[in-house]
This record gives sequence, C-alpha cells and structure tokens, in this order.
Amino acid sequence: MHDTIQTQESTEKATSVIEVDGVDFCYGDSMALKGIDLKVPPREIVAFIGPSGCGKSTLLRCFNRMNDLVPGARVTKGTIHVNGSEIHSPEVDPVELRRRVGMVFQKSNPFPRSIYENVAYGPRISGVVDKGEMDGIVEKALKGSALWDEVKDRLDESAFGLSGGQQQRLCIARAIAVRPEIVLMDEPCSALDPIATAKVEELILELRREFTIVIVTHNMQQATRVSDKTAFFYLGELVEYDQTSAIFSNPKRRETEDYISGRFG
Ligand code: ADP
Repeated sequence: MHDTIQTQESTEKATSVIEVDGVDFCYGDSMALKGIDLKVPPREIVAFIGPSGCGKSTLLRCFNRMNDLVPGARVTKGTIHVNGSEIHSPEVDPVELRRRVGMVFQKSNPFPRSIYENVAYGPRISGVVDKGEMDGIVEKALKGSALWDEVKDRLDESAFGLSGGQQQRLCIARAIAVRPEIVLMDEPCSALDPIATAKVEELILELRREFTIVIVTHNMQQATRVSDKTAFFYLGELVEYDQTSAIFSNPKRRETEDYISGRFG
C-alpha cells in the first residue's frame, strides 16, 4: 500500500513541469505570496486568475527568475522546480533558465528591428550562425505563431509596421524560436481588440501541442476558453486550483465562487 503511494507520488513529480512547494515571496518587507503549492503538468495550459494585486504576475515571474531583476524581491521560503531542477540552486544559470522558460508580456514589445531579426535574435545569441539554418528557424517560429502567411513577403520590414495583434504574435514567435519548454504569458491579450484576441487565443491552444503554458488573465471567459486548469489567487494565497471546468462550474471555496460570479475583483 505504502509502495503504491510512493510510486504514485514519484510519477506525479516526474510528470510536473513546474512544481512549487510552500513558496513565500517578499518585496522588501512586504509579503506578496504565502505558502504557494502548485504543480503544472506538461503540455497543459494553466490560467492564473484573481483580483489585481493578488500575486499572479509575481508567481509567474518566479518561474524564470525575472523577479531577480527587482531589488529586494526574493523567495523567502519553499522551493520551485522546473523539470526537476530547483531553479535557485547554484547550478542553474538564470539566463539559460530564461531560454527554457520564455515569456510574453502584456504589451507587445518587439525590438526596433526587422520582423526577421526579431525572431532571429534569441537563436543568434544561442549560437546559430548558419544563414540557411536561421532561415528555417525563423520560418518555423513564424508558422508556429500563425504569422508566416501574413509576413513572409515583408520579413525585412520593421516590426513596428505590424498591427498590435501581429506584434503580439511576433513576440510569441520570438519566444518560441529558442525552443523553450514553457511559455509564460502575462495578460497577453489585454491590449488587443476582440479579433486579434481570438487569433492569439487560437494560437495559444495550438501551442499546447509542444509547450507548457501558464497564462495570467483578467478575463474569465478567456480562462474558460483556453485553459485546462485554473488557479484562483486572493491576497497572496492560492485559494483553489483545479480543472478549469470544475473551477467555473463547481468551485469548492466560497471566495472562488464570489470572484467568478463577479461579486468582487
Ligand atoms: P497581480 O499580478 O495579481 O495583479 P502582482 O504580482 O503584480 O499581482 O502584485 C502582488 C503584490 O506585490 C501587490 O501588492 C503589488 O503591489 C506588489 N508588487 C508587485 N510588483 C512589485 C514591485 N516591483 N515592488 C514592490 N511591490 C510589488
């Protein structure tokens, strides 16, 4: 019996791409996350929902140590494993971690360069020098982000000439060009109109075939449309984490029900 439990536990560990255990996080003296436990399975889409300031972006930015760039910000308790490695251990190089755990931001942020160069930037830093190989990588990433047909005849033009929705898909192409294992998305559609949003959501669902995705969203319909699992945060705590259908149809906690039914937030 005990053996069976151990086997189940080790299988679960092996199949979690991200595993957060008992994490507290502080900005200086101010605690932003308390006692977070969370497991993200491979090639699933997990949505983080909850009112502003409840810690969703902070936790997301923990996964690729983006918070290291904020003075005084740190994990004060607990561990975060990405594919089995504790990301704060000395063997983990944060730059390499950020290649494995890519990020797409709320506001698209293409570089002031051509469409081609935006996608080629990461692979070039990773050491790709051959032009033919680079052309292949750029084409694959742009196809993967459903942008290729719209830009294939203007790859040398400035990325700033693209529409807002196209720029966001270019940023997704840039993130996937280095073949990350995980793509983090922090409200990727909040600056987009409904048509561009629908395209990006369709793309997110496509990307699940190859990548594990964690998405912060304020839009609960978006969480129901794109995610497999949903985590509801409130005041720095993870209140409830379950299959998205269960969170939205049958929440177990009162706070979750109040939030999804629009009673606060
Ligand atoms: P959410 O993504 O849910 O809106 P955040 O993770 O951005 O929440 O913020 C969680 C808490 O941490 C908030 O109280 C916020 O004010 C604080 N916080 C976020 N970023 C910083 C920062 N760079 N410095 C200090 N406090 C911050």
